[in-house]
Amino acid sequence: MTPVTPEDAAGEGLHPDTLAVGFGYDPAEAYGAVKPPIVLSSTFAYPSAAAAKDVHRAYFDGPAPEKDAPFIYARLDHPSLKLLQTRLAVLDGAEDAAAFASGMAAISATMLAHLKPGQSMLHTTPLYGGTHGLLYGPLTGLGIRPVPIADGLSRESVEAAAKTALQHGPIGLIHVESPANPTAGIADIAMIAAFADELAKRQDARPVISVDNTFLGSLLQRPLAHGADLCITSLTKYAGGHSDLLGGCLTGSLERVGPVRMLRTLLGTHMDPFTSWLLLRSLETFPLRNARANANAGAIAAFLRDHPKVESVTYLGFLEQGSAAKAVYDRQCRGAGSTFSFKIRGGEAEAFAMLDRLKVFRMAVSLGGTESLICHSATTTHYLVPPDIRREVGVTDSSLRISVGIEHPDDLIADLDQALKAS
Ligand SMILES: *Cc1c(COP(=O)(O)O)cnc(C)c1O
Repeated sequence: MTPVTPEDAAGEGLHPDTLAVGFGYDPAEAYGAVKPPIVLSSTFAYPSAAAAKDVHRAYFDGPAPEKDAPFIYARLDHPSLKLLQTRLAVLDGAEDAAAFASGMAAISATMLAHLKPGQSMLHTTPLYGGTHGLLYGPLTGLGIRPVPIADGLSRESVEAAAKTALQHGPIGLIHVESPANPTAGIADIAMIAAFADELAKRQDARPVISVDNTFLGSLLQRPLAHGADLCITSLTKYAGGHSDLLGGCLTGSLERVGPVRMLRTLLGTHMDPFTSWLLLRSLETFPLRNARANANAGAIAAFLRDHPKVESVTYLGFLEQGSAAKAVYDRQCRGAGSTFSFKIRGGEAEAFAMLDRLKVFRMAVSLGGTESLICHSATTTHYLVPPDIRREVGVTDSSLRISVGIEHPDDLIADLDQALKAS
């Protein structure tokens, strides 16, 4: 059998299920081992003094290091990282990928590489807590002004935010989180990309568009295909999928990813060999886990919607026909995912009574693992969010967020059913 290699026109014609298993690895590279080895070495030997000079010149002076450039030192690049990046790039339909120690490491390096003091930036709302903290803390401290877009589906809303931002300085970047957590709010990536093209005529450069794709992941949404320049994913969630590692990824063109990777070398926030290898292992079952968890989530969302003790369910599969969100969802997403929110009738007391009776669901933050998780948003993930903003994003004392795993759906539904009896 011919091995699947990067030279095969970036996986052209092969399904993600196939690419996730073998893309980019040739057993002939490692004693015929069917599975890629972990290379733990922190440093790599040069064959000669002249070769050492060439390698450094290529890395630092560019243009870009060649695909088969020799390794120098593991903070710059290492074999396990390189293979993982090849596979992540093909799954996102990207030219290039850079993997990081966490999702936040990918987000912060992206912002620092593509924004300068005196610039402004736009972002959709609500934002992941860590991203919000980064923009309104350290980045604001560096003289970068973040401006929220009230409605990511409305061109007028983006225009209004841009008008405010331009008073501070040129817009260097537009950061989109879609679907948003926990509102499941949708932003129209193609509309925002077209707006950025317009903006290029009013200021000296086109803003970079980054999309945080964590909430759905690469199997259900490919932001680069809709006009985003950069796609950021916390691999801690669906791709890792077992709640036993932290990782992040950035994909896009060589031109946009390159400067961020160079900054990663300086910050030292690359992904280590063991985690890279764990992720390669996780990716093999990613499509299988995703399919099962998504099907489970659909069944659970339907069960909760019909339950007398449940007030409402915020699940992407239930978007209203004919709404603007549904139209963009149908164009942009390939599925509803397996994380959603619902409101129980009553308040904190009823929510807590139910949570404390659950036996199969684990009470914890995070999402995308094989195990089903549940948490009370107001007192955990949104603890630091002021109550008025919490209400604005739809988080009340009765809101619960669940991440559905791959257990048997009947057991999950039975567990929720018995626990709801207590509320
Ligand atoms: C978890 C998460 C992140 C941060 O990822 P880490 O791997 O925890 O650093 C960023 N964005 C979203 C939407 C997330 O859910």
